[in-house]
Amino acid sequence: MPSTGLKTKDTVLNNLASRHEPFREIINRFGLLLSRQAELYSELPLADVSGMTVVEERFLGGEPLVVGMDSDAFAPAFKASALRIWPVMGVLFTALAESLRGLGHKLEENRQWTSLCLRAVVHGDEEALDRAAADAAVTPDFLLMALRAAYGPCIAAQKQTLLVLAPADLWRKSYCPVCGSDPDLATLENHPEPSDFLISKSGELWHHCPVCTHRWRFMRMTCPGCGNQEHERMTRFSLQDSPHEHIYACEDCRQYLPCLDMVECSEAVDFDLAALGLMHLDAVAQSRGYAPLSPAPWTALGLAEKAAKAS
Ligand SMILES: [Zn+2]
Ligand SMILES: [Zn+2]
Repeated sequence: MPSTGLKTKDTVLNNLASRHEPFREIINRFGLLLSRQAELYSELPLADVSGMTVVEERFLGGEPLVVGMDSDAFAPAFKASALRIWPVMGVLFTALAESLRGLGHKLEENRQWTSLCLRAVVHGDEEALDRAAADAAVTPDFLLMALRAAYGPCIAAQKQTLLVLAPADLWRKSYCPVCGSDPDLATLENHPEPSDFLISKSGELWHHCPVCTHRWRFMRMTCPGCGNQEHERMTRFSLQDSPHEHIYACEDCRQYLPCLDMVECSEAVDFDLAALGLMHLDAVAQSRGYAPLSPAPWTALGLAEKAAKAS
């Protein structure tokens, strides 16, 4: 990756960290991890999907593109990614270093185990996840977090080859059309057509995928967790000094999604880092008893809560 791109990410991260002092350390650590992942996008080998066809009806019915792929096709990229990403995670989170080293060894010497891991992370096969975790003597939650960190760059690198196979613009599900993950961030944005005389003040709602980094349009005023559309049963809250950053929480399923209102914003946003900058709102939502639609790795590790309590 050219150094200018990296510098930009560094600048974004420094700004986020200075705005949210109690979370500085977590923002810096995860920011570094996200930057390392992004560097891999252009380096990883791609799976050959030239023989793949997507049935439009099934796609528009809600079947993400990756469902049509053989999970083992990711093996070369996944290995290359894990062997770069897991050591970085081990340095950033020293308590995890030994377990991550153990996973690295298994990956290098046990092809069947790698295949189980890929079924777990690519197709969400829970039985495969449990077996792979038991085999490696780690918890399924920890294994899944480690697998996602390594798989993210692989599917992010692959996504353009998949998106051309389907009418991706028509997708309106809450989860990602490429990899099926739940979003970590919603944004309200203006997308004026050149022919439009008036720009809608309310904007369009877009979702961001924390795994493959894809963005797609979703319906406004609908809970992405359970489909609830009764706006009296949706709670929206923000902090006084940053009203354009808020949380949408649903009283039916008690899940929430952070949202950035960019309708009146002219600044460029790095969507892959944006959720890190809303960690303080995650802490508020969780203290009110809501659960994140997509638990970020810092939530899974309990780091954000610790920082919020210490602040
Ligand atoms: Zn995705
Ligand atoms: Zn809901």
